[in-house]
Amino acid sequence: MSIAWQRCINPACASEFDVLQVLPKCPQCGNLLDVEYDWNRMRLPDRADHLGRTDAWPAGGPGAVSGVWRFGALLPFVPAEKRVTIGEGHTQLRISPAAAGYAGVKSANFRLQYEGLNPSGSFKDNGMAGAFSHAAMTGARIAACASTGNTSASLAAFAAASGLMRAIIFIGDGKIAYGKLSQALDYGAFTLLVRGDFDDAMARVQEVCAGEGLYLVNSVNPFRLEGQKTIMYRVLEGLDWRVPDWIVCPGGNLGNSSAFGKALCELHDHGLIAKLPRLAVVNSAGAPTFSRLVNRHGLCWNGGRIDDDAIASYYAGLDDRGEKAHTLASAIEINRPVNLKKCLRAIERTNGVVLEATDQEILDAKAWIARDGLGCEPASAASVAGAKLLVERGVIDKDSLVVAILTGHQLKDPHATVAYHSHDERELCSEYGGFGVSSARYANRPFPVANSLGDIVDAIRKASGQK
Ligand SMILES: *Cc1c(COP(=O)(O)O)cnc(C)c1O
Ligand SMILES: [Zn+2]
Repeated sequence: MSIAWQRCINPACASEFDVLQVLPKCPQCGNLLDVEYDWNRMRLPDRADHLGRTDAWPAGGPGAVSGVWRFGALLPFVPAEKRVTIGEGHTQLRISPAAAGYAGVKSANFRLQYEGLNPSGSFKDNGMAGAFSHAAMTGARIAACASTGNTSASLAAFAAASGLMRAIIFIGDGKIAYGKLSQALDYGAFTLLVRGDFDDAMARVQEVCAGEGLYLVNSVNPFRLEGQKTIMYRVLEGLDWRVPDWIVCPGGNLGNSSAFGKALCELHDHGLIAKLPRLAVVNSAGAPTFSRLVNRHGLCWNGGRIDDDAIASYYAGLDDRGEKAHTLASAIEINRPVNLKKCLRAIERTNGVVLEATDQEILDAKAWIARDGLGCEPASAASVAGAKLLVERGVIDKDSLVVAILTGHQLKDPHATVAYHSHDERELCSEYGGFGVSSARYANRPFPVANSLGDIVDAIRKASGQK
């Protein structure tokens, strides 16, 4: 028997499939698939803190040391010579006193995992290393995804850098930040602007992949999530394998949170960490499906016996009301999260919580994160906004060790940042009013000045408090 295989997450089905099969979902029951391993045959170090220190040189060209594949011993679904990398995963666990103070957590105990430092500027590169390597290993020639922007940027970069495949991208028309669109176009991906939103693009790409035999790299792909597990390995490494009390991350398609849950549970099940952190998943209030289903409708994993009718009737309600996801945090503007069930499992196993942050709370948190010299896009700041809310509600203790994930780089969406910092409140309302953003309390406004030495010196003196 092989060391890795795929298995349906539905315990009542639990069908198993070869690792080389390309399956967007379980052919028996339609549920999501996991990648499973024979842990007895994995060559792991006897100490967790030695994980990631071996296996440092993947295939993929000179200089391409991967922060994913150095944990290859934990990801034995792909042989070492088949691993593809663009040098992803060189990210950092950063201290962040300003954001800690804003969230209300003791500053020594608050960290931000800065995934914006990936080559394409978001955490998606971790997952793409996994999915793209699997695609290559199965002989795929064309890979496709629907994207709010970062998945497409990552896929396009992998396709261009490896030369192994062509990338086709489905984007909801008008629903993408320019930083992200610019990447897909520049890297040469075939880019379809589908008239509709992300949920529409996601539905179409799944149909096209099934019909045309394209390889789908969205996070329904279980090999994507295997790559994203390394974010947790690096967080633990950054803490010298001290286990944090909380991991807080934004929730869009819920792939990342599901991957975190799987990573942590596996480490715990196999004795590599002594306790499980609690997972907090933060929806935007403008795309609150997961939070509503969990907090209002009591949806839970329930040993895998999930109330499908509750989910179906929630979605029918969205359709009846014509309700679409609507948030400035475009990376999480998703109302039909494809990894919903996996994330329910992660929440149950980690005793996790789900909550919503408004766009106002997200943008305010983003301004505080930046005061630590860390730039992120709006969706990422949902993590710090969520941590603050959980401290205020007494769910997170201020002495807890808290890690918030910064999922994407500031330069992905400079428009959102500049709009927050520039405008007076009247203009802000007209620009962002539709998102419920009415104040920019933490703005650092630019100062218009005449092209005159006197005026400029006056302005500088005034700003530094001199007469
Ligand atoms: C994709 C993405 C998210 C959402 O992650 P999911 O795995 O879809 O929940 C959050 N932030 C950024 C910057 C992203 O690119
Ligand atoms: Zn099944």
